[in-house]
Amino acid sequence: MKKEKILYLVIPCYNEDAVLPETTRRLTVKLDQMTKTNLISSKSKILYIDDGSTDNTWSSIESLHKEYKRVAGLKLAKNRGHQNALLAGLMTAKDCADIAISMDADLQDDIEVLNQFIKEYQNGSEIVYGVRSSRKKDSFFKRNTAQLFYTFMKWLGVDIVYNHADYRLMSKRAIEELARYGEVNLFLRGIIPQIGLRTAVVKYERQTRFAGESKYPLKKMLNFALEGILSFSVRPLRIITILGSLISLASFIFLIYVIIGHFVNGNVAGWTTTVALVCFFGGFQILCIGIIGEYIGKIYSETKRRPRYIIEKSLIN
Ligand code: UDP
Ligand code: MG
Repeated sequence: MKKEKILYLVIPCYNEDAVLPETTRRLTVKLDQMTKTNLISSKSKILYIDDGSTDNTWSSIESLHKEYKRVAGLKLAKNRGHQNALLAGLMTAKDCADIAISMDADLQDDIEVLNQFIKEYQNGSEIVYGVRSSRKKDSFFKRNTAQLFYTFMKWLGVDIVYNHADYRLMSKRAIEELARYGEVNLFLRGIIPQIGLRTAVVKYERQTRFAGESKYPLKKMLNFALEGILSFSVRPLRIITILGSLISLASFIFLIYVIIGHFVNGNVAGWTTTVALVCFFGGFQILCIGIIGEYIGKIYSETKRRPRYIIEKSLIN
C-alpha cells in the first residue's frame, strides 16, 4: 500500500486576525476531506507564519493551535514582508512535510483546486503553479498594472509564470533546492522557475477577500515589482549604455553642426537651445545614475548577508 504524503499549507499572515478563524475552519474541512479520500496523510497541517503583526494575529494562532490539532504556527520577530515570511514557512515545512503549498491567509486562491495540485504532484511534478484563469474580480487598476508588470518582465527577459502569484505546490525536493538560493532580496516568483525540475500548472478563479483589507498597498506593490526587476534583469543597465551611446553620437554630430554654423554664419547658438539641452541631459543623467544606484543598493544588502527572518516562537507539534 502506498504511503500518503504529508502536506503543509504554508500561509504568511500580516494583521490577519479578522480572517484566521474562518480560514482555519474552511481549510480543516478541506484537509479532512483530502485525508479521507487518501490524497494526503492525516498528519497534514496548516502552518501560519505571523509576519510581525501588530494586531492579535499571534494570539489567534495560539488559540487555533490549541483548538485544532492541524494548526501549527511560527512567529517572526519582526515584519519582514510576505516573501520572507513565506520562505520561513517553506524552510520549516521542508523538515516536517513531503509537500508544501503556499497560499494567502484570505483564501482568495480557490482551495477547491488543492486536489488537482496533489494529483499533479502524484503524476511526477515537483512544482505546481496555480495560475489565475481570469482577473475579473480584481480592480481595474490592479488588473492592468499586474498585466503590464508581467509583460514588462517578459520583455526584460525574466522567466516568470504569467498570472501566477504565490499559490503553488513545492515538493520537499524542490524546497531543498530553493534553500540553496541565498539571496536576501527575495522575489520567489523569479527564483522558483530557475530551479527547473518537472512543473505543471493548475488553473483557478481568484476570489475577492472575504474579510479584512489588502496588506499590499501601492507602495509595497511597487517595491515588490522593483525587486523583481532589479533582482532578475540587468537589461535596464544595458538600455542606459545604449541610450548613452546614441546620445553621445547625436551630441557629437550636433557639435560639428554648431562649429560649422559658427564659422559659416558667425551667429551664437540660441540661449533656449542651450538651457533646454542642459536641463534634458542633466535630468537624464541623474535618472541613469539613479538606476545604477538601485542596483548598487541591492548589491550592498546582498553582501551583508543578513538573516532573512528571525523566528521568535514556534508551535509546530
Ligand atoms: N502578508 C505578509 N506580510 C506583509 C504583507 C502581507 O505576510 O508584510 C501576507 C498577508 O497576510 C496575506 C498575503 O501576504 O496572507 C497576501 O496579502 P494580501 O492578501 O493582503 O494581498 P493582495 O491579495 O491584496 O494582493
Ligand atoms: Mg489577498
